[in-house]
Amino acid sequence: MAARAIKYGIVGCSGRMGQEIAKLFGGSGHELVLTSDLSKTECKAKPEVLVDFSSHAALAKTVELCEAHAAALVVGTTALGEEHFALLRELGKKTAVVQSFNFATGVNVLKMILQDYAPLLSDWDLEIEEVHHNKKKDAPSGTAILLREATGRPCPTHSLRLGGVPGDHSVHFANDGEVLSLTHRALSRGVFALGALRAALFAADAEKGLYTFEDVLKHIS
Ligand code: NAD
Repeated sequence: MAARAIKYGIVGCSGRMGQEIAKLFGGSGHELVLTSDLSKTECKAKPEVLVDFSSHAALAKTVELCEAHAAALVVGTTALGEEHFALLRELGKKTAVVQSFNFATGVNVLKMILQDYAPLLSDWDLEIEEVHHNKKKDAPSGTAILLREATGRPCPTHSLRLGGVPGDHSVHFANDGEVLSLTHRALSRGVFALGALRAALFAADAEKGLYTFEDVLKHIS
């Protein structure tokens, strides 16, 4: 991990992830210079990177803030549609943008496993199950969509909203003789904040472009 401290901003600063990110980035010596949420935006210095874990409704403004400050972007917000990806592709022509529906290392390794091996199970049944806390707004989760896309085929997705669960995902394959289940469990939101920190340090020094968290993991491994 890069030794230098970065100046960064958080979009969604008062939210569950925003607070987790401020705690981890602050504890690692990085300086929070811009905060934004539904109620207000405050800026005390020029950020090098913005970290957006908020709402798809905030993304156009986040992109404007990145352009105004020539800042890179790490975006973990889910429920993004094609219009949002179009904004990110445009921004990626000017600065480094890292987008992922899940910043946990294990989920991204699971994605790579599915991309490589799901084709071997193309005639097996396939269903995806996700469990999240009861305050989560979108369903299915962005991660369930990411994993489904990694399998390369459509499949039923089941969403449970229970208590305080940070995020569990299982991909089940079965035929008449076998069941293969692959499960990832995030034990706390800290894992997403850690991934966002790795992505922010990468983005602060990266060439312009639209990157995945997989690109970040391959760069730092
Ligand atoms: P939350 O509801 O606790 O916080 C949302 C924050 O966004 C709040 O600060 C709120 O004020 C702000 N916000 C909402 N609408 C806004 C708008 N229109 N303009 C500006 N700010 C706005 O949510 P959370 O649990 O922190 O999750 C935030 C997002 O991050 C969700 O999309 C969630 O699915 C996603 N998430 C992604 C990952 C990942 O690894 N990619 C992990 C966890 C959560």
